[in-house]
Amino acid sequence: MSLIPHLNGFSLKNKLWHAEDVALSDIAKQFGTPTYVYSKKALTDAFNAYEAACVRSNGARRARVHYAMKANSNLAILNVFAKLGAGFDIVSAGELARVLAAGGSADKVVFSGVGKSKSEMIAALKAGVKCFNLESIPELTRLNEVAGSLGVKAKISLRVNPDVDPKTHPYISTGLKGNKFGIAYDDVIATYQAAAQMPFCEIIGIDCHIGSQITEISPYLDALDRVLDLIKALDATGIKIHHLDIGGGLGISYTNETPPAITDFANTLLNHIEDKGFGDLEVLFEPGRSLVGNAGLLLTTIEYLKPGETKNFCIVDAAMNDLMRPAMYEAYHAIVAVNDQSSASSMTYDIVGPICESGDWLGRDRQLKVEPGDQLAILSAGAYGFTMSSNYNTRGRAAEVMVDGGKVHLIRERETIESLFANEKLLPA
Ligand SMILES: *Cc1c(COP(=O)(O)O)cnc(C)c1O
Repeated sequence: MSLIPHLNGFSLKNKLWHAEDVALSDIAKQFGTPTYVYSKKALTDAFNAYEAACVRSNGARRARVHYAMKANSNLAILNVFAKLGAGFDIVSAGELARVLAAGGSADKVVFSGVGKSKSEMIAALKAGVKCFNLESIPELTRLNEVAGSLGVKAKISLRVNPDVDPKTHPYISTGLKGNKFGIAYDDVIATYQAAAQMPFCEIIGIDCHIGSQITEISPYLDALDRVLDLIKALDATGIKIHHLDIGGGLGISYTNETPPAITDFANTLLNHIEDKGFGDLEVLFEPGRSLVGNAGLLLTTIEYLKPGETKNFCIVDAAMNDLMRPAMYEAYHAIVAVNDQSSASSMTYDIVGPICESGDWLGRDRQLKVEPGDQLAILSAGAYGFTMSSNYNTRGRAAEVMVDGGKVHLIRERETIESLFANEKLLPA
């Protein structure tokens, strides 16, 4: 079986990998490496795959997509989604500022996260976000106080921990007991009743998010049933829920995973909600990875080949500071030679970066025909790639470009070395 995922927006043409109509080797020449490369078509198609389920043929809306922007928060990407009509799921005041800077509107923003600070609540209330997704009584109490001091009412939803196993990596599963996220299932009704007593909070929704890189639909249906039961029970106590936020988490294919297609996934959940008699609810999806993951790759250049007794190393100019996922989750990213017609002999390499850590690897035991100076593309790097990057080893973060047909747009300049310590100060003499 091929270890390269099915991609939209990136393809091999005449033995050269392209982003839409542009050869990756030309991008490397023009912008240098390491560089993140995104396809506008792939972003747009992924969003429209959700919309195909979210909008009925008569134009009536069944659900709305709130892009979980922590997956990739570049302003150009946010702007593409904002123009397509997306709302946003944010987890910080910084992300709110990005939405506004990118032309998104606050009234389509839901504010998630387990540790919202007072100043973040103030910023979100002043901007007029659609909803706060709250995760504890102390957070509810704080929001009530902050909203009261501003003389406004905060619209809220509680994030339920449905205690279902999404069967994904433990670091990215969030909906099980013993996880820091959400309100324990058995405490949900009491917490809503407490919320109903808060004069500056207005209950509008219910929310759950069970994890990330989920490739099966059954955990979602389990979670959905548990949340629908809660909505019914709340209704019986006089608490009316207007919207149901199903969260994000749909997986992508990094190699041979076979997650459900986006439209099928969204249709299945929306049909399930309607079949159970909850067709009046406003429904929200919060996808991150499934919108951007396969719409981006990381382009890198080979510095050295270092054959060894037990391993051959292919040392590239990208590193764990650029793409953390392999080091952090032992994640697999397919890696291809940008020029697929090299006469070099085929060898098995570990692809590693220059950082002084043994964890600094991007791929292990990969068969490649390459020479120093060749470029590699690390695929499926559009989600949790750039946003998790750092300046470790005083390395400037990569450039980012977006390809649109035959055009390449620089959407983030490569960081200069001086900028990395521009905010630092020596002690007085
Ligand atoms: C991270 C996150 C998402 C998006 O998850 P993906 O796996 O990228 O789709 C959605 N909602 C919440 C609350 C999140 O924390």
